[in-house]
Amino acid sequence: MILAGGRGTRMGRVDKGLQPFRGATLAAHVLRRLAPQVHVVAINANRNQEAYAALGAPVLPDELTGFEGPLAGLQTGLRHCATDLLVTAPCDSPFLPPDLVQRLRDALVTQQADLALAVTMETDEAGVAHKQPHPVFSLVRKSALPRLDAYLAEGGRRMDGWHKSIKVAEVLFNDAAAFRNINTLAELQQEEQARDAAPTLQDVVSCLSGYDPHAVPVSQAQHIIREFVQPVRAVEKVALRAALGRVLAADLVSPISVPAHDNSAMDGFAFAGDQLDGEHPTTLQVIGAVYAGRPSDLRPQAGECVRIMTGGVMPPGCDTVLPQELAAGITDDHVTIAPRTVKTGDNRRFKGEDLMEGSPALKAGKIVRPADLGLIASLGIAEVPVRRKLRVAFFSTGDELRSIGEPLAPGCVYDSNRYTLHGMLTRLGVELVDMGIVKDDPASLEAALRDACESADAVITSGGVSVGAADYTKQIMATLGDVTFWTIGMRPGRPMAFGKIHSNGHSAFLFGLPGNPVAVMVTFYFFARHALLRMMGASASDDLLVQARSFGPIRKKPGRTEYQRGILTVNADGAREVRITGSQGSGILRSMAEANCMVVLPDHQGNVAAGDLVDVLLFEGLI
Ligand code: AMP
Ligand code: MG
Repeated sequence: MILAGGRGTRMGRVDKGLQPFRGATLAAHVLRRLAPQVHVVAINANRNQEAYAALGAPVLPDELTGFEGPLAGLQTGLRHCATDLLVTAPCDSPFLPPDLVQRLRDALVTQQADLALAVTMETDEAGVAHKQPHPVFSLVRKSALPRLDAYLAEGGRRMDGWHKSIKVAEVLFNDAAAFRNINTLAELQQEEQARDAAPTLQDVVSCLSGYDPHAVPVSQAQHIIREFVQPVRAVEKVALRAALGRVLAADLVSPISVPAHDNSAMDGFAFAGDQLDGEHPTTLQVIGAVYAGRPSDLRPQAGECVRIMTGGVMPPGCDTVLPQELAAGITDDHVTIAPRTVKTGDNRRFKGEDLMEGSPALKAGKIVRPADLGLIASLGIAEVPVRRKLRVAFFSTGDELRSIGEPLAPGCVYDSNRYTLHGMLTRLGVELVDMGIVKDDPASLEAALRDACESADAVITSGGVSVGAADYTKQIMATLGDVTFWTIGMRPGRPMAFGKIHSNGHSAFLFGLPGNPVAVMVTFYFFARHALLRMMGASASDDLLVQARSFGPIRKKPGRTEYQRGILTVNADGAREVRITGSQGSGILRSMAEANCMVVLPDHQGNVAAGDLVDVLLFEGLI
């Protein structure tokens, strides 16, 4: 029973449960979280009963008149309750725990209590931990009704007063934030604003026409993910070398011009080009030599030149360099230039040709590569602002999984997904949190997801998201946040979970990848990878597909995207050719290891004939 019978005195007497919150009402959120945990939900309300009834649950007013508090609601609930147990939750607690009922019930049964209530530990300002009971989050036996009636008849109205007459079991919950309620309009606004900063999945999806989670085209799933994830904001400065593979957090503006002066591109002779004669040889007197990195005050006049080395600063008045090997004649102090050997301006590098002072040398969002390190060094910049490294936690789910080193019991397999993920994530340059194997058991899964959520920016799981999977992964994921389960129009890798989960004030983006080893890689490469890059702050870039001729025919059904493992080679004529590797079963990792690329066959594509051009994504280069 959702307790919505209060007067709402702290909310300016508005009806709390009906306050708009994240696209619904507060009570609707509570209902949504409670419904999967119980047989039937009812709402206890003394006003606006029609509005509550619209939520699709029976509405029961207090039988005691005069807004007598939560015990009056409880009494009504117990009187109408068709089951042996009644659970209560207040209408302003939209974050209540997904395992509230289960845990209260376990304690009620094992301790043979009349009532079980939730408690959390809270730390006060002095840093001392106190037990905080949450009496409105309770599970009560129907058999306690006569004692409640008696307590209320005596005029008792206090929860703790009533609890003295029955046996109470306390259940400690770790996530205190799950019990927070919204007491004032200001708090409500604050919660709404916290959300405004980032869109919900619903916000993103509502802009799409014909969205159906059971049939999501690849491009749509990619779009939703791209719109939903947010980059990490924190920036740090790192020494230049350490910036390799990191994402630039700001434009790098060149503090100098590179090169700083006009200079020679060759070893030779520098002079003013207007002296060249198109018909006759030109002979110039050599007045001195200019070396790279050594300033000179030579100023050649008409009929004069300087000997100059590559990188030497062009003396005033000089705009042309004759490479030494092109000279028609060289003596100790003269050089002769044959007609039409060089033209004015040849072999001169301009100041700022590489980079002009004040212009952006590299843009924010760029992943720093070797050339960038060099470029940044050429600007004399020693420290580079980069985005904080993304932290990605990952684990495998499945009772059948064993870790390397463990004996392989019948029907079990070694966990390979964690290793593939380790490899792909390492290449991306994120910080890894490898959380091992998690059993298909609700408590372990919830603990692992919470732990991952509290320690990382993104969580990647494998397994347990397929249709009809006999495990709890989906169930638990759904209760921890804004998570959607897709059937994607692709092969391999149809099932996938995506969203954002929350735990104890932390949140993380969640990628629930399928269990099959090849499906894990494909969904990582085509969905998670882009999302993680975006979270790292990298500017968007498309996969670089190349075209190749298909060596043989490929069977393909239109209406879905297929990713086939391929081996790309260059044939004798220099043309790119791709062959599909052996069996394409989504569990067969060997054919993935043999492949050097994926053949991407888009939705509209039908069968491919031998010799047709297909798109290919090379593994090498998928950082
Ligand atoms: P699931 O989606 O959990 O039903 O898993 C689909 C298939 O992938 C099952 O055959 C699993 O045994 C297999 N699988 C799931 N996780 C892993 C893993 N980490 N390593 C190897 N195989 C796995
Ligand atoms: Mg499984």
